[in-house]
Amino acid sequence: MLTGKKGVILGVANKRSIAWGIAQATAQAGATLALNYQNERLEANVRELAATLDNPLVAPCDVTSDADIAAFFEVVKTSFGTLDFLVHAVAYAPKEDLEGAFVDTSREGFRIAHDISAYSLTAVARAALPLMKDHGGSIVTLTYLGSERAVVGYNVMGVAKAALEASVRYLAADLGPYGIRVNAISAGPINTLAARGIQGFTKMLKHHAAVAPLRRPTEVAEVADTALFLVSHMGRGITGEVIYVDGGYHCIGLVPKDEPA
Ligand code: NAD
Repeated sequence: MLTGKKGVILGVANKRSIAWGIAQATAQAGATLALNYQNERLEANVRELAATLDNPLVAPCDVTSDADIAAFFEVVKTSFGTLDFLVHAVAYAPKEDLEGAFVDTSREGFRIAHDISAYSLTAVARAALPLMKDHGGSIVTLTYLGSERAVVGYNVMGVAKAALEASVRYLAADLGPYGIRVNAISAGPINTLAARGIQGFTKMLKHHAAVAPLRRPTEVAEVADTALFLVSHMGRGITGEVIYVDGGYHCIGLVPKDEPA
C-alpha cells in the first residue's frame, strides 16, 4: 500500500507506543520512514526499535523547540526530498495537572499541555508543508474521547485534545488546496507510557472492555491499520475527520444492565 512512499512518524518512546505500532504497519506496507526521539533518554530505545525496520532515518526532535523542528525537517528534506505522510503521536501534561480535579489546573500546566499536545501539530504540519506541497500528502494525529466528554481524570489533556481536533479541521481547510489531508484517530484506552500518567487508567481500561460494543480493549495494531489506511491512497477522500478506533465505545449512551459501570 505504501511502496515508494516516505513518511515521518513522531512519538515513538518504546515498544508499547502507538507510534511504534504505526511505524511497523507503514514500514511493512513498504514506506521509508523517519522517526524522532524526544530526548537523549529515549534515543537508545528508539534506535534499538528502528534497527528492526529497513534502515529508517532517526533524529532528535522535541516539539516544544522550533529549532528542533526545523533541524529535524531539514534532515528529512536532505534525505527524502519530499514527504508523503506525517504521523503525530505526541502528547504530554504535567503529572500534577492529571491528578485531582480539573478545576485546579495550573496556568503553566494548561500551557504545557496545549503546547505539546495541540500546538505541536500545527508546528510540524507547517514544517512538512514544503515537502508535501507539490504532490499532496496525509497528516494523522492521535486523540481521545476526553476531548468531547468529561472523562474524570483526563482533565487538562481532554481540553488540549479538543484544541487538537479543532486544529485538524483548520489545517484540513488550509492544506486541502495543496492536496494535503489532515485527520485524527480517536483511540480507545491502550496501556502505554503516556496512558499510565492518567489517574484511574487501569479502571478505565476494564470499564472500556466491558462496555464497548466489541467487548474488548482497543489494540495498537487496529489503530495502526487505520493510520495505514488514512495515509494510503485508500483514504484519499477523507480530510478534517476524527475516526474512532475504540471498539465502538463512543456510541454508547447507556451501560448495559449486566455490565459493570
Ligand atoms: P507514548 O508515551 O508511547 O507516546 C507519547 C509520545 O509523546 C512519547 O514518544 C514522548 O516522547 C512524546 N513526547 C512527549 N512530549 C514531547 C515533546 N516535548 N517533544 C517530542 N515528543 C514528545 O504514549 P501513546 O499512548 O502511544 O501516545 C501517543 C498518542 O496517542 C498521544 O497523542 C496520546 O494522547 C494518544 N492517545 C493515546 C491513548 C492511549 O490510551 N494510550 C488513547 C488515545 C489517544
